[in-house]
Amino acid sequence: MTATRRYPRTGIGYDVHRFEEGRELLLGGVAIPHERGLEGHSDADVLLHAITDAVLGAAALGDVGLHFPPGDAKWKGADSRELLRMAVALVEDAGWILVNVDATVVAEAPMVNPHSAAMRLEIREVTGLPIDAISIKATTNEGMGFVGREEGIAVIAVATIAPGDSDNE
Ligand code: MG
Repeated sequence: MTATRRYPRTGIGYDVHRFEEGRELLLGGVAIPHERGLEGHSDADVLLHAITDAVLGAAALGDVGLHFPPGDAKWKGADSRELLRMAVALVEDAGWILVNVDATVVAEAPMVNPHSAAMRLEIREVTGLPIDAISIKATTNEGMGFVGREEGIAVIAVATIAPGDSDNE
């Protein structure tokens, strides 16, 4: 019996974290100088969380909260690079290869673009993607809403996966 043919798929991820005094700000695995960090059970890397959700979503494998429950002591202070690495492994175990990720960080401050090259290198390290398949963009919220009031940072991300080699034989 032939397996059902599979085609590329796309997943979306969205995450928000609130600013908190006295924490280091981590975005895309990079520590960014800022007067505040983000609140969270893990290291609160909102960018990696959105990308992780996009990767999981592409393969319909649930979300970050399902695989890494925030109430679980195991994930307290967790390195979000590890969460993304595990999500990519889950997707690969399901017979997919990750093709690309694209994310937009929505924040009034800090400036993200000066750090995007370093973030892309980190994400390459974690996902194994080529650098030109990793896109990190940034925008402000034009002063509107919770992002505009600088209460937190939001990120949206997409990821595309394609059938792994065993599907192409
Ligand atoms: Mg999160």
